[in-house]
Amino acid sequence: MTEPTPITIARGDGIGPEIMDATLEVLQASGANLAFEEIQIGESVYKRGIMNGMEPSAWDSLRRTKVFLKAPITTPQGGGYKSLNVTIRGALGLYANIRPCVSYHPYVSTKHPTMDVVIVRENEEDLYAGIEYRQTQEVTQAVKLITRPGSEKIIRYAFEYARANHRRKVTAFVKDNIMKISDGLFHRVFDEIAAEYPDIEHESMIVDIGAARLADTPEQFDVIVTLNLYGDIISDIAAQITGSVGLAGSSNIGDQCAMFEAIHGSAPTIAGKNIANPSGLILASVMMLVHIGQAEAAEKIHNAWLRMIEDGIHTVDIFKRGVSKARVGTRDFAQNLIDRLGERPTQLIPASYQVGEKASFAGIALKDYARQEKKLIGVDVFLDHKGGNGDDMAARVAGLIGGDLKLSMISNRGQKVWPDGAPETFCTDHWRLRLLGDGKAPVSPAAIISLLGRFADAGLDVVQTASLYSFDGANGFSAAAGQ
Ligand code: NAD
Repeated sequence: MTEPTPITIARGDGIGPEIMDATLEVLQASGANLAFEEIQIGESVYKRGIMNGMEPSAWDSLRRTKVFLKAPITTPQGGGYKSLNVTIRGALGLYANIRPCVSYHPYVSTKHPTMDVVIVRENEEDLYAGIEYRQTQEVTQAVKLITRPGSEKIIRYAFEYARANHRRKVTAFVKDNIMKISDGLFHRVFDEIAAEYPDIEHESMIVDIGAARLADTPEQFDVIVTLNLYGDIISDIAAQITGSVGLAGSSNIGDQCAMFEAIHGSAPTIAGKNIANPSGLILASVMMLVHIGQAEAAEKIHNAWLRMIEDGIHTVDIFKRGVSKARVGTRDFAQNLIDRLGERPTQLIPASYQVGEKASFAGIALKDYARQEKKLIGVDVFLDHKGGNGDDMAARVAGLIGGDLKLSMISNRGQKVWPDGAPETFCTDHWRLRLLGDGKAPVSPAAIISLLGRFADAGLDVVQTASLYSFDGANGFSAAAGQ
C-alpha cells in the first residue's frame, strides 16, 4: 500500500459541516487512499478576532498538503470581513476556477437535456482584487484589474483543458465594446493564444448576449473562458439550469496548490436540517481524486453517483414527483451512494478517468514580450467639488494650469462636460480634469508635481491622480464618453 495522500479539509459554515461529513464518508468507503488534516476557517475564526478567517497554522497545513477540500463559508454582504475564498485563491495562486455544469436528463428535471458546459473562470484578478475607494461624499470606486500574464495563463489553461478533455470549442465572454482597454486586453490575448490551438474552435461573445444564450441554448457552448466576475455569475446560472446549483463541483488550480469546493455557498437558511444536496462537494472531491492521480476511486464515486441519480434517489432541491423515486436527506444520500460503489449508470454516460490523468497543467509557460516604449504624456487629476458645471470647473482651474500641460477635457462620471458639455448631463462631486503635454516631448513628473502644488495652494481637493502614458505611440487610457 502506498502512503496516503495528505489532504487538508475544512468543514466551513452553514450546510458546510453536513455536506463535508457526507463527502468524507463516501471518500472513505470508496477506498481512496487519503489522510485528512482538518483546519478551522470561516465565521468561528472571524469571531475569535482573526480577520483573515484562518489561523496561521491552517496556512502551514495547506502549504504542506497543497490540496484543499473545502466546504462553503459565509461572507457578510456590504461590510465586515473580506471574503476568505478570495484571500485563499489569491494567496495560493489558484488562478483557474473550473466549473463543469452538466445535465442529467431525464433523471434531473431541466429545460436543457443535452447541456455539458465547462466554465473556466479567471480567479485572481478583475473587480475581485477588491481595490475599492470612497473619494467624495457621493462617489465610490472599484478598480477592475486585468493583467496580460493573468489573462494569458487562464486562456492557455482553457485551451489545454479543452485539448486534454477532448472538447471541441472554447468561447470567450468579454465586454470590450465598453471596457476597451481591460476586457480588450483579455480579448486580444484570447485571439493570440487561440491561434496556437488550431485543432480547437474558438469564438468570442459580448458577455450580455453570451449569458442570455447560455441560459437559453447552453448546448451551443462547450468550454467558456472568462473574467472573474462574469465567470462567477454565469457559472451559478449554468449550474442552476442543469437542475440545481447544488449539483456542481469546482476546482481552483494553481501552479503549486489546488482547492476543490462546491460552487454553491453555505445556504444558511437550510443549514442543520439534513436536507442539503451534498453532490457539489462530492463531485468536487472526484475532481480532487483525478488531480492527485487516484483515478480509480474518482471513477468509482462518480459512477455510483450517476447510478444513484438514475435510480431517482434525490435530495429535495432536485426531487420531482413522477421522475424521482425517493426523497432523501443529506446523510441518506451519502449512504445510498456508498451502497452503489462499484456500480455504473445504465443510461447516463459513465465517467471514465485515466490513471495518472491530471486536471491541472502546472507551470503553464508564458510568452516573452518585447518591452514597449512607455512615455508619460499627461495626467488625469480628480477633484472633489460640489456644484456647478464643466465650464465653471474649467474657469476655476484656468489660472493654475501652465508650463508643459494644457487642460484638454473635463469629465464627470466618465462623461465629458468640458469643452462643449451637454447642459443635461448630471454631475456629482467627482471631477476628472485631463491635462496633456504637447504630444511631442514627454511630460516631466516635476511638471505634474508643480501643478498639484498649485491646485493645493488654491484650496482644490485633489482626491486622485492617474498618469497618462503612451505605449509605442498608442494611448494607454480611455477617452471620455462624448469626447
Ligand atoms: P447559496 O449558494 O448558499 O444559496 C443559494 C440558494 O441555493 C439557496 O436557496 C440555497 O438554499 C440553495 N442551495 C445552495 N446550495 C444548496 C445545496 N447544496 N442543496 C440544496 N440547496 C442549495 O448562495 P447565497 O445564499 O447567495 O450565499 C450564502 C452564503 O454563502 C453567503 O455568505 C455567501 O458569501 C457564501 N458563499 C460562499 C461560497 C464559497 O464558500 N465558495 C460561494 C458562494 C457563496
